[in-house]
Amino acid sequence: MKKFIVRPSAILLSLAFTTSVFASDMQPDYQKLVNQAYQLYKNDKSGTVASYIPELATYSPNLYAITLVTVDGKVYSAGDTKAKFPLESLAKVFTLALALQQSGNDTVLNKIGASATGLPFNSVLGVELQANHTGNGLVNAGAISAVSLIKAKNSAEKWQLIANNLDAYAGGDKLEFNNAVYKSEMATNQHNQGIARLLQSYGRLYDNVEDSIDVYTRECSVDVSTEQLAQMAAVLANYGKSPLTQQQLLSHELLKPLLAEMTTAGMYDASGNWLYKVGLPAKSGVAGGVIAIAPGKFAIAAYSPPLDNNGNSVRGQEAIRYIANQAKASLFEKY
Ligand code: GLU
Repeated sequence: MKKFIVRPSAILLSLAFTTSVFASDMQPDYQKLVNQAYQLYKNDKSGTVASYIPELATYSPNLYAITLVTVDGKVYSAGDTKAKFPLESLAKVFTLALALQQSGNDTVLNKIGASATGLPFNSVLGVELQANHTGNGLVNAGAISAVSLIKAKNSAEKWQLIANNLDAYAGGDKLEFNNAVYKSEMATNQHNQGIARLLQSYGRLYDNVEDSIDVYTRECSVDVSTEQLAQMAAVLANYGKSPLTQQQLLSHELLKPLLAEMTTAGMYDASGNWLYKVGLPAKSGVAGGVIAIAPGKFAIAAYSPPLDNNGNSVRGQEAIRYIANQAKASLFEKY
């Protein structure tokens, strides 16, 4: 007869999961949720590490980290939360915030747009097919256009403004620049150059092609850990104010369109499925980072390099979905 061996760790894990995740009537036990999400998905090895930027292929598929920061600044973490990885598309959120801050929501809507494309993040076809050509500020076309829209005297000043803005969201520390990733992407980004050139032909690029591509690639090459990224995202959960420094980085009025865009397009062409299953504004990057915002409650940053077919981190999505569902954090929970 076959014997079933029950591992003690499995018993402990299932016991932990049967007790309530709500520490009190109001507040979930966030540390418990983060630990559970980490344990549940740590052995999921599915997905593929991005390699179209060659340097990204050097990251270990085993890296996995989750950090949740509440609007009152409490931090809950599990896994490789000090491991650094490039922001990639996550940078688009914060530069779009800067564009909103500088130019206002009408200009951003007119010059970039906010509608979902239903196409891959770097689609050239999207530039051709969409009436506004740029799509929205969270796909490559709209994000390159957003960089071009940032007002500055020259390209060096523009990069400084964008980098300082990222640092301010992270709480003021200088975030590290990953030169290896920058060089690797600059050597292989002909596709993005093509997008920028097309945008220029349609009058949807507001600076020259070379500088726009250079600064866009720089912002994608800024390194963060989930601890830093969750602090950046927590500003968006805390109505535009940093829980760390108490600095108001974006007005509540401008935060609303930014969260709307993250809800519509943050997970690329999987944004509809994400909204269906999780119900939170979010954004992912091809290095494996994902952020999600529970307005007025918390932000989560998760990291794991293997991606699904839509370019979103497999375990990053799983972890956030689990925590958001257990904490009943969906935007639609109250309806
Ligand atoms: N730098 C990357 C690119 O332009 C960002 C894409 C992403 O993270 O989705 O392809």
